[in-house]
Amino acid sequence: MRAAIRASMSLRKEPLSLEELQISGTSPPEQADETDAPQEKSARQYEEVADEDIEDIELKVAARDARDEAPLTPGTSTPTADFEGLSWPSVGTLDRLRERSHPEDAEARLQKLSGAVRTILECIGEDPDREGLHGTPERYAKAMMFFTKGYEENLRDIVNNAVFHEDHDELVIVKDIDVYSLCEHHLVPFTGKMHIGYIPSRRVIGLSKLARIAEMFSRRLQVQERLTKQVALALSEVLKPQGVAVVMESSHLCMVMRGVQKSGATTTTSCMLGAMRKRAKTREEFLSLLRR
Ligand SMILES: [Zn+2]
Repeated sequence: MRAAIRASMSLRKEPLSLEELQISGTSPPEQADETDAPQEKSARQYEEVADEDIEDIELKVAARDARDEAPLTPGTSTPTADFEGLSWPSVGTLDRLRERSHPEDAEARLQKLSGAVRTILECIGEDPDREGLHGTPERYAKAMMFFTKGYEENLRDIVNNAVFHEDHDELVIVKDIDVYSLCEHHLVPFTGKMHIGYIPSRRVIGLSKLARIAEMFSRRLQVQERLTKQVALALSEVLKPQGVAVVMESSHLCMVMRGVQKSGATTTTSCMLGAMRKRAKTREEFLSLLRR
């Protein structure tokens, strides 16, 4: 008994490597400094990826797409981390990543987006050149890129060095994670709280990473149902837990502002996997802990 306690309190455990995690996608480069033979690149190396490599990836994307008929728009039918570790990329994700090392292209994208915002201002009968709107198209363009920055993030980078072996098999819950996302039907925000619970199966993840995973998927164009499911599936893939539950409550401005829904009304979605889905008692325990 004492030995067990001591063991559990002893030195900090080593995190699991990406290989051990077996997240699909390329494995990390082995002894990358030794040869100049072609090395597989992890997503975090994107800054250094050459144009040919990007084209190669694009071909793979196209081939995979045609073969599996899997949509490249964010979905949940394929593994969370694709080759190169991308997590449910969208069609333009690779371009956005590439522009990190091509600032002139990133600038051109912002210009194009700003122009579109200027058009919106004109279309609603505003004067884009009046003083108050000076710089608004550019500001909005930058804000929009920030609101959707989750496309450029991926699960592998987020969980790297944060998954540990632990003989804990009781429910772990993180409540009230703030979520800010954009409704893909109206491009206006929906905001709320996400609650994540899981029952480990010898793997636990740093608690702050749960919020990071929620953020990665919420900073994209979303519907609440898919966002909820993506977070649950991502955790399931990383931790191979006994069960996962994700519940989200949020208010959709597209409904609140248009008066379809009384302000203050919330939309609740949930995704339960494994033991959380199968065992009513476990699910009840999770839900009763949420109510506290
Ligand atoms: Zn909407």
